[in-house]
Amino acid sequence: MSIIEDLVIASRICVEHGVIDAYGHVSARNPENPNTYFISRDLAPELITQADILELDMESKPIKPDSPRSYNERFIHSEIYKARPDVHSIVHNHSPTVVPFSCTNCELRPIFHMAAFIGLGIPNWDIREAELGTDMLVRNSLHGKSLADKLGAHPAALMRGHGSVVVGEKIQIAVGRTIYLEQNAKMQYQAMTMFGKPTEVIYMDDDEVSANVKWQEYYRSWDLWKKKWQKKLAQE
Ligand SMILES: [Zn+2]
Repeated sequence: MSIIEDLVIASRICVEHGVIDAYGHVSARNPENPNTYFISRDLAPELITQADILELDMESKPIKPDSPRSYNERFIHSEIYKARPDVHSIVHNHSPTVVPFSCTNCELRPIFHMAAFIGLGIPNWDIREAELGTDMLVRNSLHGKSLADKLGAHPAALMRGHGSVVVGEKIQIAVGRTIYLEQNAKMQYQAMTMFGKPTEVIYMDDDEVSANVKWQEYYRSWDLWKKKWQKKLAQE
């Protein structure tokens, strides 16, 4: 199935761009059954092949009973798919430049057009809203539902002291948004600290944001990234 190939490629793309490392994961809803989704077994995303992809239900239980285990944080995916029928792909990441925006009062704002979706609002979820004294990981459906509630209808949510979750109607949108979210965070930090002191920054306004998100699906980026990885994977 081409979505399985896309999932492997999406994982490699996210690693290549430094937005996921040994941790973090990409998932895709099953195009033939909206009540299941595909995600890898518990494995570093850079090592994933098509044979490692599992199909899980909306409680994050494997469809095949003898399946290997998937990630601890798989409940991020099932709870968001349940809450958001429009979402067909999810990236959970620990993207490094994004994390400081999750634990300070510095708001992430759209500084360049490729990340216009940030202007739709990026809520910041604190796991303490679900449970106190955790190890910060989304380990059960209670945590996952709390995160999905905070995400609401937005394209992404920050996770305090942890990372973020990014969603899309297509896998290329979830991946593109993840990569440009990290780039935007970097650019925003650079712009705010230019000249060695706080600087006033001009962000995209609401009209510019809605004019951009109307069409922005990262087609050209996805085409480039996918072709590169198809070639590399064929050589593995
Ligand atoms: Zn995580």
